[in-house]
Amino acid sequence: MRSKLVTLAARYVFPVDGPPIEGGGLTILDGRIGAVGPLTGRPDFDLGNVAIVPGFVNAHTHLELGPLKPRSEATPAEAAGEIIENEVEWLRRVINQRRSGSEHTLRSAVQRNLASTIASGTTVLADTTTAGLSWKQVIQAPVRGVVFAELIGLHRARGLQTSEEAGAWLSKIRPKTDASALVRPGLSPHAPYSTAGWLYHKAVQNRLPLSTHLAEMPEELELLENREGPLRRFLEEIGAWDDEWEPVGSRPADYVRKGELRNADWLIAHGTYFDPSEFWQLRPEAAPHDHRVAVAFCPRTHARFGHAPHPYRALLERGVIVCLGTDSLASTPSLSVLDEARFLHRNDPSLGGDLLLTMATLFGAWALRLEATAGSLRVGKSADLAIVALPNREESDPHALLFDSELPVVATVFRGELVSGTWDGT
Ligand SMILES: [Zn+2]
Repeated sequence: MRSKLVTLAARYVFPVDGPPIEGGGLTILDGRIGAVGPLTGRPDFDLGNVAIVPGFVNAHTHLELGPLKPRSEATPAEAAGEIIENEVEWLRRVINQRRSGSEHTLRSAVQRNLASTIASGTTVLADTTTAGLSWKQVIQAPVRGVVFAELIGLHRARGLQTSEEAGAWLSKIRPKTDASALVRPGLSPHAPYSTAGWLYHKAVQNRLPLSTHLAEMPEELELLENREGPLRRFLEEIGAWDDEWEPVGSRPADYVRKGELRNADWLIAHGTYFDPSEFWQLRPEAAPHDHRVAVAFCPRTHARFGHAPHPYRALLERGVIVCLGTDSLASTPSLSVLDEARFLHRNDPSLGGDLLLTMATLFGAWALRLEATAGSLRVGKSADLAIVALPNREESDPHALLFDSELPVVATVFRGELVSGTWDGT
């Protein structure tokens, strides 16, 4: 059988685990990267003024959620999303959206959001979903990653219900999902303020990748420290508060580090309010038996709620893996990781472009144990690529061509096949 071989040429190739290559070439051989380096010979497709980068990794999203309706009393600035919103009030609106949405509405949102995810150059994703709802659609899409079923409830009855639903989903799909599957199942205890400690412990016993929202807002710290504050009042109001509730610990890191909770891979969404004294616990080597922990930072969602500055730089300096996520359309305007990276670049231009691109690709792949297959352009890895149009100018650091730009992703390639866009950008 003849092998399928295609050579692409681009103004720049960004391998991520090596420096950018001007006048680069990348050869796809049977769906994998066969060669990467300066172009030699005639390419099959000369893509012109574009960058070839690894497919982006969206390390935190909820595909089933759509944009929130503007509040009736919203000012024009609020309606345009240019506001700082109280996160507890926002939670109320998201819960309303979920409660009023039928399964059909949720599945249509998954389909739409998967399409825009792929068109934005993402080839790896970590999706959190109700009782495995998005699974069927995600495994049929040209992506790899993990689908986390949500566990939620402070009340025992509510917690049992979500845990039974997630268990039923797992027993249905696990026999059909082997180690070579592109998408694996995981579990996501939602957050310390919404999810009883026993659900966190139960999640660990399943030996699956885990994800949780952690150190997300100051109200969470207040609740963990003294069981009081706006979150408690909110939970009481919606009937979700449990007088018997005891936190796993008084600090967010306890939820992924205390006792047997250490014995799992944890992908932490947000992580804004970890205390510097907790940072060391989030380093890869602080996890026993090669269990992994990483923080998925969602820059535009973070900005929406006017939080304290995110400690991503301090975390990275201490060796913590920080990757990027979009979170859902309920808190960010698009599901593009490149848009998130560009937003972060605008707000923090001195963050190195090479580090920013690594956060948007390889670090997320590592967090999902996919770094041997995806996340960088290395010979033998899967040919999962995003092709990004570049501006007509020169830059001393070519990463600025990617991030200091509004030009779109023109094509997405998954396992060597074009899954969005065209080779010639038409
Ligand atoms: Zn989230």
